[in-house]
Amino acid sequence: MKKIAIILLVLVSLVSCKKAQEEYVIEDIEPYKPVVDFGFNYDDFNVHYDTIGHQDTFERILKKQNLNGKKAAEIIKIVKDSFPTSVRFKRPYVALRSKDKYNKLQYLIYQPNRLEYHMVDLTDSIIGYKKSRPLTFKIRTVAGEISGSLAATLKKENVDAALAKKLMKVYAWSIDFFKLRKGDKYAISFTERYINDTLYDGIDSLRSAFFEYKGEKLYAFPFQQERNSKTDYYNENGKALKNYFLKAPLKFINITSKFTKNRFHPVQLRWKPHNGTDYAAPTGTPIMTTATGVVEQAGYTAGNGNFVKIKHDKTYSTQYLHMSKILVRRGQRVKQGDVIGKVGSTGLASGPHVCYRFWKNGVQVDALRLKLPNSQPMEGRNLPRFKEQIRPLKRELDSVADIKFK
Ligand SMILES: [Zn+2]
Repeated sequence: MKKIAIILLVLVSLVSCKKAQEEYVIEDIEPYKPVVDFGFNYDDFNVHYDTIGHQDTFERILKKQNLNGKKAAEIIKIVKDSFPTSVRFKRPYVALRSKDKYNKLQYLIYQPNRLEYHMVDLTDSIIGYKKSRPLTFKIRTVAGEISGSLAATLKKENVDAALAKKLMKVYAWSIDFFKLRKGDKYAISFTERYINDTLYDGIDSLRSAFFEYKGEKLYAFPFQQERNSKTDYYNENGKALKNYFLKAPLKFINITSKFTKNRFHPVQLRWKPHNGTDYAAPTGTPIMTTATGVVEQAGYTAGNGNFVKIKHDKTYSTQYLHMSKILVRRGQRVKQGDVIGKVGSTGLASGPHVCYRFWKNGVQVDALRLKLPNSQPMEGRNLPRFKEQIRPLKRELDSVADIKFK
């Protein structure tokens, strides 16, 4: 169906191109287009465009239209419910005056923002209106290959930079966009907002996306689990893209020391803050990363011993100390639950344990106390509804990609 629609579109555009060319040859003149806005044909008026000045009030703009103080006061009184008395600096307004010798103000239209406008109608009795320009949403689907950064790639498709930002947020836990390579494929479907059907007003929402990253298609679909819950993004199987942290880096938990401002250090034999949670376990026990991310540091210091630090997103990093063995390299991408090292007692440690440290915006915080409602794992009962909802979205995305990459 989609294919047929696209073929039709191509045909129509071919035909219309040809027609336009023929017309061009015969007439050689741009077709005459009257300016229409706010439902008026501007050719019927003397049109005066202006913007609100520093000292302007509603009264002052009326007076600028050659109305006396008495008339201005009368208008303000009548339309006070639909026209603001204080007007915003630099916002545009339009005065439509009669095209006869009187050049009388007929309509005054003020726009406090791109969407809304206030209008005074003086053609008969005095009437004030507050209206909104019609807002329309258009679905766009783009597919292609990465060349340069994500933002640069999308810019070539004439897509708002806001979409690249949004995607980077949605995929922050799954894709390292700096590691995307030339030739990696993507397909994205999103809605754009238009005012009056023509004036672009920005990205409205992301409908679906995939990035083919290291040969694997990583999908993202927005979904609300409850009527008023926030929208999270999930892959085609309903797994949240932004994952929760595991409770601890070890399978079997034995906490021996908690995060505290003051504890007696068992090796240094003095009181000092403890910026982590200690989990005791036999030497060699596997240590897991508690969330997906990129290895930021993997090395040795006298205090930490062998340690690994993992960056999960802009906000969160976790760190694992005193390892007997490090099993990852700096820059390596790790998935939640991956084994990154083994328990040991290197550095300042009195016995084998892992000191788990949690960083939020560069500050060490207590992982046990931190509330991390980042995203809700998909509830089993919501999965059928989710799958039902994404089926057409996924089909659409895949078919666009199929056409593009054939
Ligand atoms: Zn510790």
